[in-house]
Amino acid sequence: MKMKKNPLPGLILSILFFPPHASPAPVQQMDGMVEAIVTRITPSLIDIRRDIHCHPELSMEETRTAALVADYFRGLGLEVRTGIGGTGVLGILRGGKPGPVVGMRGDMDALPITEETGLPFASKEKGVRDGRKVGIMHSCGHDIHTTVLLGAANVLSELRKDLSGTVLFVAQPAEEHGGGANEMLKAGLFKEVKPEAMFAYHVDDGFKAGTIAYCSGSMTANVDNFDLTVGSAGCHGSAPWLCVDPIVVGAQIVTALQVMVAREIDVNHNAVITVGSFHAGTAPNIIPEKAELKATVRNYGEDQRTLIKEKVERLVKNICGAAGASYTLDYRLGIPSVYNDPRLLEDILPTVERALGGKEYVKEVLPEMGGEDFSHFSRLAPSVMLWLGCVPPDVERTKVHSPTFIADENCIPIGVKVMSAVILDYLSSRR
Ligand SMILES: [Zn+2]
Ligand SMILES: [Zn+2]
Repeated sequence: MKMKKNPLPGLILSILFFPPHASPAPVQQMDGMVEAIVTRITPSLIDIRRDIHCHPELSMEETRTAALVADYFRGLGLEVRTGIGGTGVLGILRGGKPGPVVGMRGDMDALPITEETGLPFASKEKGVRDGRKVGIMHSCGHDIHTTVLLGAANVLSELRKDLSGTVLFVAQPAEEHGGGANEMLKAGLFKEVKPEAMFAYHVDDGFKAGTIAYCSGSMTANVDNFDLTVGSAGCHGSAPWLCVDPIVVGAQIVTALQVMVAREIDVNHNAVITVGSFHAGTAPNIIPEKAELKATVRNYGEDQRTLIKEKVERLVKNICGAAGASYTLDYRLGIPSVYNDPRLLEDILPTVERALGGKEYVKEVLPEMGGEDFSHFSRLAPSVMLWLGCVPPDVERTKVHSPTFIADENCIPIGVKVMSAVILDYLSSRR
């Protein structure tokens, strides 16, 4: 991630919860109520987070977590739908006053990583991925996302009578797998009630708890992949003129892809093509019958996505054609880029700043080339995903997707407080 340094030296919850500046009375009153609820429920949210962390589940296997979420929603009096697109859960909170519908999404799945944090609630869970026995760990902070989702549902359900509209709380399976959001949508997640705006967090491993970061516009990349097989009749390594050498052709393609990115893509539109796998041959004196390449293609926006796909197809066709090689190209469009609606973001930033206690805790950052399937929601309705700082006070940074990833739990009440304020302000401004 390309992140700026966090200026907050240490987390002082009391300062964050009691921002010194004045706000108009109704907002101030609402902020006070949110704060009181958050303060009261934080210990139980921490317990829930540790329970989820201790019992992580792989993508599309989140049955325990989904049951916990559904029970929690039922306890709050929400209408609950379960089993949506696998293990997905929807909690519907209907406010006491008329108004629009908004949604908040949290993802529930964990990663096939063996935890090495040494935390007292570290995961000991094991699972099977691709036929191999693997450890399971919440190393991407989805335990935090789920807990914050529950916390916001709790706060807003307690304020239901003053709530102008409906809030949909979406607990999504299989983000890491890249398919959970789409599965829920295909299964009719919003067929009864459709949100006009969606919000979400992802923990940020570059900022301390107490800081929230954002991108306007594209936030994550389109994640597309291709498999390419370059074919040949094969021949003796001592007589390469008797067949096409698929290794040489494959190597030319690898180089040409990098030249294409450097020379054909507008510098204002970032793109990455990485050939992460190249397999061919069995012996030094045999020209093999095929070379197999696997690559990932990252960029932002649908126009760039289409443009780069066409360029890859043209380049492969022509290099193979020039060499007389056969080929098969399987180019797959994966999850699209998360797009943060600039107007919606502009609308909510003052609330985020107010809830955090000042502009200095809200940072604009550059987009990154990773993927997030919240993009399926962001294509459906104006959406904003915020980065929720989670770096513990005693370390400079922590790393998601690593076996030693540790999140500062102080980001949970902060995330709940900010999201509750964002949703309340959004609904009251549009009723
Ligand atoms: Zn992840
Ligand atoms: Zn994640």
